[in-house]
Amino acid sequence: MTRFLFSLILLASISLSAQQLKSPSEFLGYELGTQFTRHHEVVDYYEYLAESAPDRVQLTVYGKTNERRPLILAYVSSAENLANLETIRQEHLKDTEGAGNSSKAIVWLSYNVHGNESVSTEASMKTIYELLTKKSSYLENTVVIMDPCINPDGRDRYSNWYNQYKNTPYQVDPNSKEHHEGWWSGRSNHYMFDLNRDWAWLTQIESQQRLKMFNQWLPHVHVDFHEQGVNSPYYFAPAAEPYHEVITDFQRDFQVTLGRNHAKYFDANGWFYFTKEVFDLLYPSYGDTYPIYNGAIGMTYEQGGSGQAGLGIVTAIGDTLTLKDRIAHHFTTGLSTVEVSSQNAEKLNQEFREFHQNKDFKYKSYVLKGKKNKLDALKSLLEKHNIEYGDLTSGSYKGHSYGSGSNGSLSINKNGMVVSTDQPKGTLVKVLFEPNAKLSDSLTYDITAWSLPYAYGLDAIASTSAIASQNTQETVPSSNIASGSYAYLTDWNSMDDARFLAALLKEGIRVRKADHPFTIEGRSFERGTLIITKGDNENKEDFIPTLQSIATKFKKDITSTGTGFVDSGKDFGSSSIQMISKPKIAVLSGGPTSTLRFGEIWHFFEQQLHYPLTVIDDEYADRVDLYEYDVLVLPDGRYGNYFNEDELTELKGWVRKGGKIIAMGGSIDALDGEKGFGIQKKKLEETENDENTPQPYKDWERERIKGAITGAIFKTKVDNSNPLAYGYGSDYFSLKLGSSAYQYLDNGNAVYLEQNTKPFSGFAGAEARKKISESLIFGIENHGRGQVIYMVDNPLFRGFWENGKLFFANAIFMVD
Ligand SMILES: [Zn+2]
Repeated sequence: MTRFLFSLILLASISLSAQQLKSPSEFLGYELGTQFTRHHEVVDYYEYLAESAPDRVQLTVYGKTNERRPLILAYVSSAENLANLETIRQEHLKDTEGAGNSSKAIVWLSYNVHGNESVSTEASMKTIYELLTKKSSYLENTVVIMDPCINPDGRDRYSNWYNQYKNTPYQVDPNSKEHHEGWWSGRSNHYMFDLNRDWAWLTQIESQQRLKMFNQWLPHVHVDFHEQGVNSPYYFAPAAEPYHEVITDFQRDFQVTLGRNHAKYFDANGWFYFTKEVFDLLYPSYGDTYPIYNGAIGMTYEQGGSGQAGLGIVTAIGDTLTLKDRIAHHFTTGLSTVEVSSQNAEKLNQEFREFHQNKDFKYKSYVLKGKKNKLDALKSLLEKHNIEYGDLTSGSYKGHSYGSGSNGSLSINKNGMVVSTDQPKGTLVKVLFEPNAKLSDSLTYDITAWSLPYAYGLDAIASTSAIASQNTQETVPSSNIASGSYAYLTDWNSMDDARFLAALLKEGIRVRKADHPFTIEGRSFERGTLIITKGDNENKEDFIPTLQSIATKFKKDITSTGTGFVDSGKDFGSSSIQMISKPKIAVLSGGPTSTLRFGEIWHFFEQQLHYPLTVIDDEYADRVDLYEYDVLVLPDGRYGNYFNEDELTELKGWVRKGGKIIAMGGSIDALDGEKGFGIQKKKLEETENDENTPQPYKDWERERIKGAITGAIFKTKVDNSNPLAYGYGSDYFSLKLGSSAYQYLDNGNAVYLEQNTKPFSGFAGAEARKKISESLIFGIENHGRGQVIYMVDNPLFRGFWENGKLFFANAIFMVD
């Protein structure tokens, strides 16, 4: 009886607080869907809910964006569950080790990863309110974790822009300014990175901070809410082919279970939707695939709308799509997801445990070796993913060799490591490390290759046997610098070295570089070795302590020499031992440039190299005096004939007098051919043997991809006597993102493809492979005292191709 009474009181108090809770519209003071809610107002509403119903909503601030906006998570569940949240979490995580007995469903809803797909955050407020009121029964066996906005900087960029330009009342005519956001759109984050391509690479602070939280929970179900073009019907699970082969039958089936439930609601309302098309499950860095490879049912839901839609817009068929419609759809699928998860909590738990049993993948271990700081870079990524690894100090290992693409062996005498698939994150290990992801279909939405040993420039084999790690004692590099030495030497082959150099230059320490190999006091040094002499820095105050502290910070091994007299090579006083200048760098933004490709350069300088750059926008670039800068970076984009004849003449004059252009991707087209620079675009010759049979219209898409490369990895040749390639070996695995190809330069080909153009990993169409045969990847063209550096492939792509970044650093510091 007492128990019954107690329940009654509890029930009464719950329904009382439900009555008292304000809906988003009541709280915000306007009807939801009639305005875009700014991020701080969204945070206010979530805080209000956590204060008003603290037994059922808990808020966590898990970080801050680049522009200092808070990143928040709301835990929503029954009072009983929330009181035991930590126990539920720990019990759930035991399931990843096969030891748990958890019964609660864990559902994670992520909103607004793309800032201008801004309905999501609005829908999240309506969803949490409904879960706390009418749909609270779902929460009895379910914990819902809501991230109302993954990308607040981008979302506020969009909503502030919209509020500035909108008509009053809003104008549904698609020609009105409020439907044309412009170059600096709100889709990406502060650094113009696409956060829905960053889950695996974690280059951005939003992703890094979020993933710490994600790994604390590893939900059963994860939804990433998006928007697509205004004319598209709603998209929900099941996803399109290709599916990565690691995706389990249950993960496939449950997408269908969820999709059918969503369809029930959409059918009842007469809303349009589609499934099984466009959005595939392969590339591991999405908000659907990444959770899948961690055991969840990961899904993308797409509403029609995005930055073009505003508060209302006329669609192609003459209907008006409003923000209220868009909210209703995301709200419906969000709730339906929680409903289905709650109904299937037991199954979800059982299958989650099953997922984490050892999968017995073909390759049991990945063995890697390489320079210590390259291994360290990979280890740091693995740690962020909670992937376990071990060190190897000796032994010879057999398996699939990444370097040759066939069977081989790898001998280790130091600096080795092993990553095994027999661990809770085993599936993710397979996906990130395997040499070649199996493609069930080559029509995919994104790149088809990303294998980490290639991306990090490490020698590796994939082994079918389980290899145990060996104990090592970390040797701390001795950066004890003897003051009074003639010179200090250090090698050049990683981004750590580039950061070290950038820090020295910023401190005003003068640094020289070796353009020839040399030996001194019995030790050998390669091209690109940094030479810091006492003589150059005589007038630098605190020279030794400053050098010491920077060397310690970047874990640099410094060799002190008592002489500048080399055993072989050039003495340090030789005129061929050049001083490295401290270049002033400008990058073009806006206009023809791609926002994402521009952002990669911006982020590289500020967050990776820590070196200043000036952003010059296309709007006023013609009024800027180029002679104030040493380097002009032209990001990839659609340039065509971007420069007129006068501008080309001016550019050439500036280069001849010592300026340096770094032309990336599509910007090369602004310089090629008759425009006075030496680079020539390759065209595909018509070969006579090609089939001449007309292809059926239904196959046009498949025909088209013969000419395409969808992000594939190629082995290229490297001339490491070229300053653009200092620090590299004789070959380099390049991630090719398209089939644009340029002929070899007369001189200065630093990295290039030879005749054999079969990709080591990923998809390349037959015609595309012909076209890129014998083509340039990276090269230098000298003009007078300056240079044009061509980067056909993009070493900064999404910030994750770690082994390519030194090419960019070379372009800045080594090429002169
Ligand atoms: Zn999106």
